[in-house]
Amino acid sequence: MSEGKGQPKKRFPLTLDFVSGLAGRNKAGTTAAQNSRQTATRNAAHHATRNAVHHPAPPKDYVVHAKAPEMKRPSPPVDKLANMPLVSEAVRKAMVQRVAQQGVQDPLVLAAMEAVPRHYFLEPGLAPQAYIDASLPIGYHQTISQPYIVARMIEVLRGGAEGRLQRVLEIGTGCGYQAAVLAQVADEVYSIERIRPLHEQARSNLRPLRIPNLRLHYGDGMLGLPQCGPFDGIILAAAGLDVPQALFDQMAIGGRLVAPVGGQQQRLKLVVRTKRNEWMADMLEACHFVPLRPGTFG
Ligand code: SAH
Repeated sequence: MSEGKGQPKKRFPLTLDFVSGLAGRNKAGTTAAQNSRQTATRNAAHHATRNAVHHPAPPKDYVVHAKAPEMKRPSPPVDKLANMPLVSEAVRKAMVQRVAQQGVQDPLVLAAMEAVPRHYFLEPGLAPQAYIDASLPIGYHQTISQPYIVARMIEVLRGGAEGRLQRVLEIGTGCGYQAAVLAQVADEVYSIERIRPLHEQARSNLRPLRIPNLRLHYGDGMLGLPQCGPFDGIILAAAGLDVPQALFDQMAIGGRLVAPVGGQQQRLKLVVRTKRNEWMADMLEACHFVPLRPGTFG
């Protein structure tokens, strides 16, 4: 950052903090002015996306303290993202329409997809792409699943049920998006993630949404969550060569499990527990997921 001659050192960072609303969290004071501005803008954009309605406009005189002329007003990306909550409803509706055109019919699932703001789950730089039908990176070589596949898997999980599912387990929380959608269609949702920083990221992504019926766990989902089962629905967001045995055992009788299985070539597998000792399986469409891995990381 370029400090002005005789300028009190703290002023510029304080100004950035004001704009971003993230006092003490950005390191703008330690990098070049340009980078500082980008970092602050990203932070500001991120914050503004979530809080646009409550975020006051910076007072006109806030630039008086900022030496760098480029700090005069929030740069365009801030404004663009600040408006996103308003725009995003329309864009999200369009996303749901596309998902419906691709064949998802379950009205409860479509309503759930419309209710959850997908842009909350992406880093600010990717938020404008939140409503395209693609998987996107969330860090640690993992991805947020494509909207269509999220909707499709939940539709298969519900199997045309009239009402809500009762208790659902998700393996692979990632950024928490699918867990939030599941929480719209089930009474209780448990979600496990094996990468600790992602588990924590999901926690902070979900916090502003205040979803009371969703519990996140850090651990190896291949072992399931026996203390919370049996589950009416189990959904895997990562592909193993087959479904781990522990998960079969944690299905309620009449319960359903949907999982991507395979290596390079993957398909969705549906398993229904028909009796205490009987499971029926069906192979559905091709898909592409990150691998299911044992153990924990971080
Ligand atoms: N549900 C996410 C998708 C995340 S990608 C969404 O809403 O888009 C799949 C996730 O599964 C990754 O975060 C990966 O770390 C996780 N994963 C892989 N193997 C796992 C395991 N054994 N237990 C728990 N999570 C696992």
